[in-house]
Amino acid sequence: MVSRVIPVDPFDLVIFGGTGDLARRKILPGLFRRFCAGQMPDAARIIGAARSDMDTDAYRQMVSDAIDEFGGDLAKECDARDAFLKLIGYIAIDARGETGWADLQEAMKGKGRVEAYYFSVSPALFGDLAERLQQWGMADEDARIVVEKPFGRDLETARDLNATLAAYFDEHQIYRIDHYLGKETVQNLMAVRFGNMLFEPLWNSQYVDHIQITVAETVGVGGRGEYYDKSGAMRDMVQNHLMQLLCLIAMEPPARFDPDAVRDEKLKVIRALDPVESYEIVRGQYQAVPMEESEHPGYRTAVGDAKSRTESFLALKTHISNWRWAGTPFYLRTGKRMSARSSEITVVFKDTPHSIFAEDAGRHRNVLSIRLQPNEGITLGVTIKEPGPGGMRLIDVPLDMTFADALGEDGADHVDAYERLIMDVIRGNQTLFMRGDEVEAAWAWTDPIIEGWELRHDVPKPYDSGSDGPTDAFELMRRDGRDWREVSP
Ligand code: NAD
Repeated sequence: MVSRVIPVDPFDLVIFGGTGDLARRKILPGLFRRFCAGQMPDAARIIGAARSDMDTDAYRQMVSDAIDEFGGDLAKECDARDAFLKLIGYIAIDARGETGWADLQEAMKGKGRVEAYYFSVSPALFGDLAERLQQWGMADEDARIVVEKPFGRDLETARDLNATLAAYFDEHQIYRIDHYLGKETVQNLMAVRFGNMLFEPLWNSQYVDHIQITVAETVGVGGRGEYYDKSGAMRDMVQNHLMQLLCLIAMEPPARFDPDAVRDEKLKVIRALDPVESYEIVRGQYQAVPMEESEHPGYRTAVGDAKSRTESFLALKTHISNWRWAGTPFYLRTGKRMSARSSEITVVFKDTPHSIFAEDAGRHRNVLSIRLQPNEGITLGVTIKEPGPGGMRLIDVPLDMTFADALGEDGADHVDAYERLIMDVIRGNQTLFMRGDEVEAAWAWTDPIIEGWELRHDVPKPYDSGSDGPTDAFELMRRDGRDWREVSP
């Protein structure tokens, strides 16, 4: 099945931090792939803006190298590279000084088309960039800014950042990226929930036993140790990515599929979250496995702090206090150096009220599993009779909708989250971006949890690299008579 590509209007995109890791790994190769797919017009312009002093040719070479390294198969097969590179310019700029701003102003002068400014730099520079864009007359009403995570490190800093950006831009001009929202399956989650009659009537505490969300990574902190150690799994993953997934799975049907209707409903979910008690949360920190220490150092070695109390793993149980979900627990889990890379949302339905089958036929539950990575897709476990003459025995089989199988080679997993989100910025569609009040509400929920750890000098439980977290995380489920889904690649 060939997906339909609707070209966007011509635009100017300035990437502040255009030489950085994120620009090279995601933004630039993603733009090239959209160009190859015919979605980006020839009249578009991309301007890298960063501190390094280099000319346009050198920057184009850097972009071309990034495409080779990170562009994937579509980029390799595409012969439009020269045409794409022609759209690219570069301006050496200092976010905190005067260098480069006059050149950028000249480059962006009045063409009356979409102007997007991607802040792919440290959040410490967001305010400087916003201020300078205004000073140099570029913060007009056609302008959009895209800001990367982290958006604050607590409620206070997030409020400050929102206030700083609001001083120069209206909310409808601010695109706060959470790349989890750009994933195909995440949008499919909304399509499945609100486009089918089948699920929505069952989507509540009367029929759903519990919901689990797992985002497991096999990588450790790698070269980001210094940043990560100040952050931890709660700030780096739960407050944003897992929270957004929780919102989409739990929200009420919005009246329309438009940015504010969707974001209003997500906000209500966050505001209805119960505070988490200390016994409902397990923090972990990975440790090296003997003999593998040099290849895979433990967390404390990786961050260079033998006493670090930052968590690289988190499992928690929470409730949403509203009519739909009262009584249905939500279990969230995320961690680094786990056994497999896997992101999955699982909706476990309740037992049938009465079984007509003999005890030894087995008792089974419907499980809807929404897989974000790898192998994006949705599976519904249904109970059938085990084939053959062995009497009435029940087994679970999956109704499988792995997108690569269902949609073929051109299926959804070929569009990376960043590509989709950047095209949404150009289209002016904020549905998949976080609104300022959502981000603040999420921090308002996480702040007391983090403050509790700090007050108690909480030390995370060690877990072996390559395992699925401390034993206490399994206990968290078992004492409720439940189990985590296996983390499978
Ligand atoms: P990086 O350190 O690799 O790159 C930083 C970029 O900012 C460089 O291009 C540098 O020239 C530019 N820069 C620094 N100081 C500047 C100044 N004073 N004026 C102008 N430009 C300046 O960082 P990164 O990893 O690309 O991350 C960029 C942003 O994206 C950060 O907010 C980060 O938290 C976020 N982010 C990164 C990733 C990732 O995978 N790298 C993932 C999610 C979010």
